Amino acid sequence: MKLKLHWQILIAMGLGVLFAMILGEKSGFIAPVGNIFIRLLKMVIVPLVMTSIISGVASVGNAKNLGRLGLKTISYYLLTSLMAILIGLTLVNLIAPGRGVDIPSSKSISFEDLNKPDSLSDIFIRMIPDNPVGAAANGDMLGIIFFAIVFGAVLTKVPKQYGDILIPLIDSLFHAMMKLTGYIIKLAPIGVFGLIVNAINATGFELFKAVGKYMITITIGLTIHFLIILPVIYWIFTKRNPVDHFKNMANALVTAFSTSSSSVTLPVTMDCVESNAGVSNKISSFVLPMGATINMDGTALYECAGVLFIAQVMGVDLSISQQLIVVITALLASIGAAGIPSAGLVMIFIVLSAVGLQGPTVAMIVGTMLAVDRPLDMYRTMVNIFSDSVGAVVIANSESEISTPNVTR
Ligand code: ASP
Repeated sequence: MKLKLHWQILIAMGLGVLFAMILGEKSGFIAPVGNIFIRLLKMVIVPLVMTSIISGVASVGNAKNLGRLGLKTISYYLLTSLMAILIGLTLVNLIAPGRGVDIPSSKSISFEDLNKPDSLSDIFIRMIPDNPVGAAANGDMLGIIFFAIVFGAVLTKVPKQYGDILIPLIDSLFHAMMKLTGYIIKLAPIGVFGLIVNAINATGFELFKAVGKYMITITIGLTIHFLIILPVIYWIFTKRNPVDHFKNMANALVTAFSTSSSSVTLPVTMDCVESNAGVSNKISSFVLPMGATINMDGTALYECAGVLFIAQVMGVDLSISQQLIVVITALLASIGAAGIPSAGLVMIFIVLSAVGLQGPTVAMIVGTMLAVDRPLDMYRTMVNIFSDSVGAVVIANSESEISTPNVTR
């Protein structure tokens, strides 16, 4: 009897945990296995995103349809991210995880280890690539997406004899990339095993005691969003059973959890949303790549909760208007965060400085948060991509672009 792939992956994950716990540091030799899996996924991201967006946008047809799709997509991103932020805000105020916390300074990771984030306006300006080939070479997702959307739209405007050559060609490339992605996903059980071992080795467990309440607060918040809010949104808009959607997305969820990267997970997310949930490439190519970089509900919740936590540790009382600033900048920071591990933590500096929290104590607390970030990052990445996938189905449903729903492989 052949076990379904997502069960194989889950078992591999459990074995990875056992392996890392039994062998401890010695289990590090397995690291290359996880790294190879990540490199394989990264290898397909740029060509997959390029070809899928160009062929997807070209099939949307005209500017009016594109505009409607864009509006729906952006509204969904903003709405769900805001909901996540409000959950974070409420929980930190209720639980107060930062009150009376004593940060053991020696254990926190130095501030210098973190790259400073770009300013928010820079991030938006850089969406327009000055060189699309450079954007592709550097894996600059927003630049690639911008160019691909514009190029796809233009393909519908060129004379028929050119469009008739280019569109099927790019469509064929896209299908070849999806096929390749399918083969790479088959390796997920081995890759996930290696990644989980790496993740456990990279986590500063000894700090868990000091900041345990903070970690629990974030975990509760993410769980509410993941298991209640998003499934309810899914049900309201599609009238379908959300449990089936969890099953359809299982491979992507586990990959997000073990890689802590929405971008690296993107090929798997696309495969699940198209092959299992039955969403057309027209919709998924529009919603998912952009979602992987812009729509980060888990990260948004984290930005808000993290900043309020830091304020509590420092004994700073944030006024209602300051909390409102946190809400808005947390939203922007989650949009600007890249889909890579710990990007959310780096962006937290933007939110912190918006309410005047700066200096060595802040840096030390963030350093501590970095040391324990891995498990939280794994969970918020999973929530991030789940929200993208719910968005894809909700929008596809509203556009009648969903074929065979609930086909669980
Ligand atoms: N790792 C997250 C992601 O790729 C971003 C974050 O650090 O919150 O989605």
